[in-house]
Amino acid sequence: MKSPFERLKINESLQTALSSIGFERPTDIQERVIPGIINGQDMIGQSQTGSGKTFAFLLPLMHRIDIKKDEVQAVITAPTRELAQQIYNEFLKISEHMPEDKQIRAKAIVGGTDRKRMAEKLKTVPQLVIGTPGRIKDLVNAQELVVFTANMLVVDEADQMLDMGFIEDVDLIASRMANELQMMVFSATVPEKLQPFLKKYMQNPKHVHVEPQHITAKDIKHVLIQTKHNDKLPTLIKTARNYNPYFAIIFANTKKAVDEIADAMSAEGMSVERLHGDIPPRTRKNIMKRVQKAEFQFLVATDLAARGIDIKGVSHIINYEFPKDLDFYVHRAGRTGRAGMSGICASLYEQTDQHSVQKLKEKKIVFHIEQYKNGEWVPVKPSKKSTGAKEQDGVYVPKPRKVKPGYKKKMDEQKKKLMKKKRRNIR
Ligand code: AMP
Repeated sequence: MKSPFERLKINESLQTALSSIGFERPTDIQERVIPGIINGQDMIGQSQTGSGKTFAFLLPLMHRIDIKKDEVQAVITAPTRELAQQIYNEFLKISEHMPEDKQIRAKAIVGGTDRKRMAEKLKTVPQLVIGTPGRIKDLVNAQELVVFTANMLVVDEADQMLDMGFIEDVDLIASRMANELQMMVFSATVPEKLQPFLKKYMQNPKHVHVEPQHITAKDIKHVLIQTKHNDKLPTLIKTARNYNPYFAIIFANTKKAVDEIADAMSAEGMSVERLHGDIPPRTRKNIMKRVQKAEFQFLVATDLAARGIDIKGVSHIINYEFPKDLDFYVHRAGRTGRAGMSGICASLYEQTDQHSVQKLKEKKIVFHIEQYKNGEWVPVKPSKKSTGAKEQDGVYVPKPRKVKPGYKKKMDEQKKKLMKKKRRNIR
């Protein structure tokens, strides 16, 4: 039987490996970029995690790598260790199902692992390098890794690379690679600031844009939970308890907030771990492994975990606060509702968040305001009569309290009396 991957022109061993791991047909982005990459075209793939974008570049690269050549032929860079490791794992998933004589030698090169051991490992030259730009750059500079033989470079999550200041490192790696360089850039957004880099290395790139709704069946319910600023942490703990999720990621904007939340939840005896930039790499790796096995119920994280990382079985996202950059709301929400499952993205909401809610509404996100009552989540429908609440920006805000008639006049009279008294005392 013909494999649906056949028309993408990838070789037979890859097709067989794909059917062994149960991939029946290419995703949208794979369909649209694989033939071009096989033909050597520069490519900008605008799509998000969950779209199958990793295989969109891995498969054609694996197709093109010449197994007989003992040299680095392709480099894949990703902004975080977790993402690089994840790409490497996806590679292994396929590679394990390839016949032995077709197996490509790949190496994951990420910061945080012992530098000496890494250099030692590199004595057998990899054909494919997957890693973070900083560490790859270091090894290239130290001449422990030779990349001038490689003519294929993937920059994954390029917009995040830019945000995190890694684009210079990628630039340096690219400058050490073969002159005839084929560059593939994958990014959820293509900001203007990325253009100089793209123009420097790409010639008439093909730009493929896959709309987020094509990605996964985004069956996500967006919920707002009203709270007051001073009451946020208890509200969060109650919310987490009441959802009793299969697995939830709780997002906060700072490392400090992540620590506070995780400490508080832990003190409450909840099954919780944390992930942010100050957590040592080894612990981060370990947490990610335990996440995949669903060994705990809550992960409290900064936006480090919002991008790129594919965690299966995330039933709930809880935003302790709205991200400063609202694009991250979309990335955070995208961690749930994957692979056709439904998911809930709940956000604690206080008055000051109105602007964010309005902006997200403009992005066609529909919010449901809910509260937990008598053992279930129910919509908040403030009766206009009792509270005078009115809908504003998709959220009910209470009407300002009415001042009693004559109250102002009374206050003014009292003020005048006081002033008179004061003047008398001064004299
Ligand atoms: P990604 O967007 O690369 O993070 O991929 C999201 C998930 O989809 C990963 O778990 C992939 O293993 C999976 N995936 C990628 N391509 C396919 C495909 N053609 N069929 C089924 N699953 C896929």
